[in-house]
Amino acid sequence: MKRVYIETLGCQMNKADSEHMLGLLNEINYIPIEDIKKADLVIFNTCTIREAANERFYGHLGKLRKEKEANPKLLLGVGGCVSQDKREYLQSRFPYIDIVFGTNNIHRLPELVKKAEKGEKVCEIFEELPFELPELPIIRQTKATAWVNVILGCNFNCTYCIVPNVRGREISRKPEDILKEIQRLGEEGFKEVTLLGQNVTAYGYDLSSNYSKEKATFGYIPDDPEYSLAKLIRLVHNVNGIERIRFITGHPFHVTDELIDTIAELPKACEYFLVPMQSGDDTVLKRMARVYTVEKYKQMTEKIRKKMADAAIVSDFIVGFPGETEEQFMNTIKAVQDIQFDACNTAAYSPRKNTPAAEWKEQIPEEEKNARLRYLNSVVNEVLEKKNKNLLNTNQEILVEGKSTRNENRLTGKTRGNRVVNFEGENKLIGKLVNIKITQAKSWALFGELINK
Ligand code: SF4
Repeated sequence: MKRVYIETLGCQMNKADSEHMLGLLNEINYIPIEDIKKADLVIFNTCTIREAANERFYGHLGKLRKEKEANPKLLLGVGGCVSQDKREYLQSRFPYIDIVFGTNNIHRLPELVKKAEKGEKVCEIFEELPFELPELPIIRQTKATAWVNVILGCNFNCTYCIVPNVRGREISRKPEDILKEIQRLGEEGFKEVTLLGQNVTAYGYDLSSNYSKEKATFGYIPDDPEYSLAKLIRLVHNVNGIERIRFITGHPFHVTDELIDTIAELPKACEYFLVPMQSGDDTVLKRMARVYTVEKYKQMTEKIRKKMADAAIVSDFIVGFPGETEEQFMNTIKAVQDIQFDACNTAAYSPRKNTPAAEWKEQIPEEEKNARLRYLNSVVNEVLEKKNKNLLNTNQEILVEGKSTRNENRLTGKTRGNRVVNFEGENKLIGKLVNIKITQAKSWALFGELINK
């Protein structure tokens, strides 16, 4: 057997892709290892969305040059969004890379590795996903909870985002294939599945018989679609062994009444909505091409909370978007305070090549962007601490995921609303659902005591 080390940067989609890469490579006798120094093959699964992930990737790649010189047999592969977007640059700037592959041809990885093993330099990028999505083998890296890709690509065209360029248009997996995968997960003892997609809330529309490819730009839902995320969740709900269902990442435009009613109705569906708002200002939202207003977004949150008072609503925010005025930024602060999010991922805008916003003149100076980010984070922390304190002395259902990395006497798991909870308990609880009484609340984590020993 040969050994492969995969470094995954970026989002959950990338993590799921890496698990498929491990499954595919296992078919040509590679086993996963955690020590890069012992690897015969090193793969970087890259991300262009976050600047930090990008910098980390280039830093690691630079360091590997020496390893490669000392051991020419070591194979080096780069996949993911960077290679999809910058293949020429990668090949010319880092000629010691053996394999460059994209996000749309992961299924071809064994063939590409075999070529590289024979000494060939390989670069293969597909501009689009295959018409029929191939079903890929997988080696999971988690125990209790599993990610399942259900839709790839995105039909929106947010002006800051590179995803439509690198991942292409939406294409959904067939429900029967998804169900087969989830049934296996139930049999293997997984308790939770997270249905994944860049725009997961558009799941199934492209499979519906009245889907119009011409009309299917941003903001499109076919009339009375035969397939939807809500319908898929109903199917997954029947799978034995699976106790929790989540989905990420949603788009506010596609959070339909059908979806909200389904989550409210089905006990296994977690009341967790990761639906990025991105800005609390209508002018900025328009320039971002997000196709909703602040008012529409608020109406969505009100509908969700009317049906599920405890639902966790989570958002991403970008501050310092080109042209964002001080007043517009303060509208984002106001939105965070008004909506009382349950968690927020925040970032200062960073221009991405080949996106419209990167070309605009009104770029905000770094210092100002960082000052806005610091202020937003302080407000987010206040909101989260207050929301978490509301959970003090309540009992929460936790799926135990493993040992805490900070304190090995503690276990860590998540609530139905995806909040991290740490508590003392025995290792045999890993992978189980337990009840925990919350005794301490911080802005990003909760602590508690096991109550059903
Ligand atoms: S919805 Fe917008 S931000 Fe999200 S993946 Fe699609 S284009 Fe990017």
